[in-house]
Amino acid sequence: MSAHSHQVEKNNLISLIKKDTGVNIHKCYQCGKCSAGCPVALDEMEYPPSMIMRLLQTEDAENEEAVKKSYAIWVCLTCEMCYTRCPMEIDIPTVMDYVRQVSIKEGKTNPKAKSIISSHQAFLDSIKRTGRLHELGFVMGYKLKTFEMMKDATLAPTMMKKGKLHIFAEKIKDKAHINNIFKKTEKK
Ligand code: SF4
Ligand code: SF4
Repeated sequence: MSAHSHQVEKNNLISLIKKDTGVNIHKCYQCGKCSAGCPVALDEMEYPPSMIMRLLQTEDAENEEAVKKSYAIWVCLTCEMCYTRCPMEIDIPTVMDYVRQVSIKEGKTNPKAKSIISSHQAFLDSIKRTGRLHELGFVMGYKLKTFEMMKDATLAPTMMKKGKLHIFAEKIKDKAHINNIFKKTEKK
């Protein structure tokens, strides 16, 4: 018997996140630095990142539902500003990504997020159609309100790599694959 065998395995979101990603949200002590540095917390999110950490810490089913149904998880840009600033090095972008996946799996996506999801699809279709890489930045800027402020075009491939757009990006995960798509479209 291990020394920890008395501990009951919990099935709440914070425990699943710890188990599946290694991120320990219990370490958050609500300093607020993540929210202060987040470029979308103030204008776009109903719960800023520190609040999402707090809601998950309560291990309360209703609070977990609120997070899963939130719009905030969808406007997170995976920019890692929060992660960089967090004194406890809590990887919030990974948490956001995890909750997005749970939200989809359980059919709890925020209605406002559905248009973001379809925008993702639209811009990927556009890349396939035009075969031009700069379309990526262009279409994102136009389709996604939250990306308007992100003038730095290098952010888009970073976000794709980091999984922000993983739902629709599976087919163009790597550059070689993007080039393949472009070659195919060029042939047409
Ligand atoms: S990764 Fe998401 S939550 Fe963190 S600062 Fe960027 S937009 Fe905000
Ligand atoms: S910066 Fe880190 S410790 Fe501070 S509130 Fe955000 S997640 Fe919690």
